[in-house]
Amino acid sequence: MVTGRAAVSRGSGIPMEIREYPVVDPAPDQLVARITMASICGSDLHMWRGEMPNLGSGAIVPGHEMAGVVHARGRDWQTDSLGRPLKEGDRVTFSFFNPCGKCWACLSGTARCPQRYALRALADDPPHFHGAYAEYHVVKPGQWVFKVPDGLPDELVAPVNCALAQVLYSLHRIRIWLGDTIVIQGAGGLGLYGVAVAREMGAGQIIVVDRIPERLALAREFGADATIDLNELPQRADRVAFVRERTEGRGADVALEVAGVPAVVQEGLDMLRFGGRYCLVGNIVPGAVAEVVPHDIIRTSREVLGVVGYEAWAIPRALEFLARTRMKYPFDRLVSHRYPLAEINRAFQEADWALSAGKVTRAVLVP
Ligand SMILES: [Zn+2]
Ligand SMILES: [Zn+2]
Repeated sequence: MVTGRAAVSRGSGIPMEIREYPVVDPAPDQLVARITMASICGSDLHMWRGEMPNLGSGAIVPGHEMAGVVHARGRDWQTDSLGRPLKEGDRVTFSFFNPCGKCWACLSGTARCPQRYALRALADDPPHFHGAYAEYHVVKPGQWVFKVPDGLPDELVAPVNCALAQVLYSLHRIRIWLGDTIVIQGAGGLGLYGVAVAREMGAGQIIVVDRIPERLALAREFGADATIDLNELPQRADRVAFVRERTEGRGADVALEVAGVPAVVQEGLDMLRFGGRYCLVGNIVPGAVAEVVPHDIIRTSREVLGVVGYEAWAIPRALEFLARTRMKYPFDRLVSHRYPLAEINRAFQEADWALSAGKVTRAVLVP
């Protein structure tokens, strides 16, 4: 019998442990992928620190960003989600959530089914491999699977099903017009992807705000036209004035919040022009409160949109985007540290430290 290792989390503050589980033959509607790389996302760190609940109360296999190869297919998985023949050994990536397709949100075309994690189970419940930090992952009905273009390294593929697909879909939803000035609040992985994706969608001026000089330097390498360092402009009014000076007094057309800090919301709104559009993506910690002035949103006819999740098309387009532009943007700089799965606790500690120390980093785990 084939077995595989999985990291198991019993909640924040308790070291994860590596357990061995049987790799069972997939049911007709399941596909078993062998994970070749998984990455540590900001939301994984939120859960690790206890700022967000784990997906499931009890011992679970964490992680959601991953790349892999087809290990075994159930009868229903003859092709990927684009109808391309699928065979054992093919490199694949897949969405992590399972929209039910039968609720009011799904039927209304909302990319955020309330039941989207209902098929997740505890680590001890077969088929065990429900998360990314393991040697295998069992893909279940509702997840989309896509073949990966040749030549794309796993370091670029692993964050596709969360960070990159989310940025691509969010900018689609908030709309980029040719020549738009966009402010990106936060120069972590999402913000850096945001620079490249906004540019490819036709953005004009791209202004990135962060508190860490190294991250802003990387934002400029990705093509940001201007950066705002919170250390240099500690006053909110000065940061808003900076954006207005660079837009002939109008304000930006779009602002994308990928900072994950509630206090930036009103600032982002203040940076917008009349009729400007504000997209919230980063503030995912429950209960974190921001103060906003509703009057300003109404009286300037601004749009405010929150986005989590995406539609199926975001993944193949993200893969194609990477294949086409990987020489144009320093995507390989986004991953800074590699760890074996067995050292997952050290990986989280160092990723957390690197974040607070201002290092640009996305740590990856190699089973
Ligand atoms: Zn993620
Ligand atoms: Zn649904």
